[in-house]
Amino acid sequence: MDCIFCKIVAGEIPSARVYEDDEIVIFKDIAPKAKIHLLCVPREHFAHLAEADAGQGEMLGRALLKIASLAPALGLGEGYRLVVNQGESAGQTVPHLHIHILGGERLGWD
Ligand code: 5GP
Ligand code: ZN
Repeated sequence: MDCIFCKIVAGEIPSARVYEDDEIVIFKDIAPKAKIHLLCVPREHFAHLAEADAGQGEMLGRALLKIASLAPALGLGEGYRLVVNQGESAGQTVPHLHIHILGGERLGWD
């Protein structure tokens, strides 16, 4: 499959990884939109939450808890924002589900 995040997960495209386990990889976004901008990507390919089965839903729950536990060590102890763009009109450009992790500064909301 010609998916850029599958290739990053497989190590075929280099990335600045900050965490990985058997379910997720977290790496730095190549075009950061905040002082700290990470992407949490499931190893398993699926594009949208609407496609996720119960097991993938549980995996995403574990991913959220993992992000929370890693946050202080990632420099996000003062707070962070999680974003999941779903669909083209929401700004999704990579059709492999990913959680944006934004922080390291005071974030605006407008
Ligand atoms: P989306 O727009 O789909 O919600 O988010 C895709 C994100 O992936 C964007 O923030 C973009 O900068 C990032 N991105 C796209 N290609 C690469 C890449 O090759 N490496 C890394 N590290 N990030 C990428
Ligand atoms: Zn993929």
